[in-house]
This record gives sequence, structure tokens and C-alpha cells, in this order.
Amino acid sequence: MIGTESALETVHFYVNGKWEGAGNRAMHAVTNPATGAAIAQVAYASAADVDRAVEAAHAAFLKWREVPVVERVQVLYRYKTLLESHANDLAAVLTAENGKTADDARMEVRRAIQMVEVACGMPSLMMGDSLNDVASGIDSHTIRQPIGVCAGITPFNFPAMVPFWMWPFAIACGNTFVLKPSEKVPMTPTMATTLLHQAGVPEGVFNLIHGDKTAVDALLHHPLVRAVSFVGSTPIAKYIYQTAAAEGKRVQALGGAKNHLVVMPDADLPKSVEAIISSAFGAAGERCLAGSVLVAVGDVADPLLKLLAEKVSAMKIGDGAEKGVDMGPLVTQEHKARVEGYIDKGVAEGAKPLLDGRAAGRGRDGFFVGPTIFDQVRPDMTIAREEIFGPVLSVIRAKNLDEAIALVNSSRFGNATSIFTGSGKAAREYSAKVEAGMVGINIGVAAPMAFFPFAGWKNSFFGDLHAHGKDAVMFYTEQKVLMTRWF
Ligand code: NAD
Repeated sequence: MIGTESALETVHFYVNGKWEGAGNRAMHAVTNPATGAAIAQVAYASAADVDRAVEAAHAAFLKWREVPVVERVQVLYRYKTLLESHANDLAAVLTAENGKTADDARMEVRRAIQMVEVACGMPSLMMGDSLNDVASGIDSHTIRQPIGVCAGITPFNFPAMVPFWMWPFAIACGNTFVLKPSEKVPMTPTMATTLLHQAGVPEGVFNLIHGDKTAVDALLHHPLVRAVSFVGSTPIAKYIYQTAAAEGKRVQALGGAKNHLVVMPDADLPKSVEAIISSAFGAAGERCLAGSVLVAVGDVADPLLKLLAEKVSAMKIGDGAEKGVDMGPLVTQEHKARVEGYIDKGVAEGAKPLLDGRAAGRGRDGFFVGPTIFDQVRPDMTIAREEIFGPVLSVIRAKNLDEAIALVNSSRFGNATSIFTGSGKAAREYSAKVEAGMVGINIGVAAPMAFFPFAGWKNSFFGDLHAHGKDAVMFYTEQKVLMTRWF
């Protein structure tokens, strides 16, 4: 907390089509992780603020659901044009508050835009089925109707993309939305909302509040919130799922991850190493799809690690806004300390650090940890089991594919995994047997595109319908079956 409003830029709430000042609320700093400096301030919503946003969304829903879908998506078409022309501005804000590199930020904004493009297809996507003469003279068809006020609660690592997994689909279906992004990175979603306002979204259809657990709990218990979409860590995902489901809401809660990258002896090593580096160290490992455990099968380990260590040693660490930087800082000082704690633990438990990133952060103002690779990791070690969410790669050696599959499937997480191989047979067997929601074959980050569903298995996901793609249409609509006979 930094007292009441100061000279710093204030990040506002957007409720019922209007921007709200912070009044005399306590303010919290938004920090640039590359410098450690405060760059903005934000107030956290109270339960009364949440109630106002939800009431506005509910009033708007009663009108918005009657607007024909072809008209609803016009807002998104206009929005897509605005996003394209402001993509670099959005990416710059994203880098400033999150720390990821400018290239990475631009790729994230591109993914956000793709969500809008897919949601523009809602007139086709939300069509029902129909069959005449299901019995003599009787026709039957299904329709999809919006459900009401939907809430989104999102994490710090993709402030431009993850909210877009939710609200463009929700509002195109005729729902209204209240977004509560991560309080660590409120500026990017606020800028995205400014553009949505310019695109002419009707009052109350989309609302943005900032805050912490207080705001989240108020959304989870609000009787007018019908559906909750969450993305974040596993303990909170589980809490959101249980709490919202107990309130009778539909929930999709995407949680944490521990993603395994399996490398077979017949893999193309240079290309695989490139993909592994981008997976493990891109966005400083702060991706739910980041490769975290490298499983080297058979005799591939030594040549693989030699090439990997050589390439990773050459990575440039620094402020993501600067040209030529390969990896930025971690999001906060606390998170940096947490990641360093895992490296300490890896050493203490007997893993062998090939590269130790702790030195990279010493004497700097920003929250830097350099890329870290541990060899001789055992599956029972903490660094092999827990989500670190930083640039730390643990290498485990496996005798053969069966052993690799058993190892991957012993994880309590099941978000994403990849195999690197030249063998179609091995790839086929791996994708069939592995227990994860997203599988890459010679792909380091198996992130499904906007028109496919996105989510993991096991402790990486709580719910039924995944994010975006056709699943989003099902999640944000209620289905009705009509039987018709005319006398
Ligand atoms: P987080 O769980 O700390 O926070 C996510 C959201 O929950 C934020 O909006 C936060 O304000 C809210 N929150 C935090 N603590 C809460 C509490 N006690 N009660 C109610 N709400 C609370 O996650 P994070 O640190 O922002 O993001 C990183 C995590 O998100 C990682 O675990 C990562 O794997 C996960 N993630 C998963 C996916 C996926 O697709 N499965 C995608 C991105 C990130």
C-alpha cells in the first residue's frame, strides 16, 4: 500500500461505460520489474464496488441479449481494427508492468487479437442443430442462449491474452462481463478497455475492476454472477472452482503446471534445443506452458545438455524493453525470492547445477534471475515436482520411452507436454498415452490457437469446458431443445 492517490498515473475501474476515480481509497503500486520502480497506482475494489459492477452488468444483460448476434459482433470488428493500430502501445505497457521482452509482448497481443477474430464468427459458432420429422410431423432443434453476467479472474503472466480467452466470446454470445485482472499488471487490461470503450461497447456490457481476494470473493458469492472463468495457480483455481460451484455457478478454472519436454535419441538436436530454450526460458519461465522438466531418453542426454548449455549461456538478460534482450526479469521481488529458493533447494537436494542463474540478479534493481539448468535431477526432488514458474529447467534421464511416459504421468499436473523425435511411432504412442491436455510434437510451447480449446488435465484444470474455441461457446451459453408440431 502506498497511501492515497499520488502523482503516479492512476489505473481506473470501468463500470457501466464510465471511468471511475479512486476517491479516497488506499492505493497500491504497480511496479516495473526491470527497474523495481513504481510506474502507476491502483485502488482495490471493495465488495460494494463489485456489487455496482455486477448490477450494471446485469441491467445491461437484459438489453444486450436481445441485440442480434450479427450486431453484437460489430463491436468486436471495430475493436479488432483499434487493437491492430494500438498493438505496439499495448505491448509496450505489457513489457513495462510484466517484464517480458518486447517481441514476446507483441506475440501476446497478436494472440489476444486472434481471440477477437474468432469471436467475430459467433453468428456461425452459436448455431444450433435441427432435424425435421424426429417423429411423424414433429421437428426438433436446439438453440444456444446467453446465460447472464459472467466474471473473469486472470493471472499476471498474460495480462493482454488471458482476459481475451474469456470476454470476447462471452459478450459475442450475448452475456455481459466483469473482469478482475491480476492486481500486479492492471495497466494492460485497462488500456485494452480504453480501446473497447472507443469501439463503442454499450454501457455495462463490459466492466473492469481491479483488486485482490476481496473483489474475487465478492464475485464468487454474488447471486447475479452466473459463470466464473479463472486462470491462475492451482491452489486458487481449486478454491475458485469449489466456492463458485457451491454457489451454483458454472466454472472453468485453469491452474498451474509442471510441463515435461521429452527428447528421444532420434530427435533433431539443433532444432529441438532451439524449441526447448524458447519453452523453458521464454518469458523467464513465467508461462503455464513453459517446459520445466527435460526428460532425456537413452544416450541423448550428454550431447543434448552440451548444446543446450552452450546456447543458454549466450542468452542476454535485461530490460525487456531494450533491443537484443532474450530474457527479462521476474514479475516481483517476492517471486524472484521464491524462484531463488527453489534453486537453493535443488542444490541442497543434490541436483547438479549446469547453469546457476542466481548470480545474474545480484546488484541489480530489477527482479532478475538468470537461466538455470539442473542435471542429475531425481523425480522425487522438489524442483522436479513443484511449479517453479521461473527460468529453471530440471533434467531427468530416462532409459526408454516407457520410462519417460511413466515419469511424465506421475506428475500431479497435466497441463502441456512435448516430445522431440524423428519417429512417428514414438510420437503417436506418446500423444496417446500421456496424461496432459495439450501435447506438442517437435513443438516447445503447444499453445492451442484461438479456434481450438485450451486447458490441461489433473491439477492443472478444474471444470469441464476448456477456454476459447468451441468450448467457450458452450461455456458461455445455455442450450435449449425445442420440439415443434403444427396442427
Ligand atoms: P494467482 O493464482 O496468484 O492469481 C490469479 C488471480 O487470482 C489474480 O487475479 C489474483 O488476484 C487472484 N487471487 C490470488 N490469490 C487469491 C485468493 N487467495 N483468493 C482469491 N483470489 C486470489 O496466479 P498468478 O501468480 O497471477 O499467475 C501465475 C499462475 O497462473 C501460475 O501457477 C500459472 O501456471 C498459472 N497460469 C495458468 C494458465 C493455464 O492456462 N492453466 C495460464 C496462465 C497462468
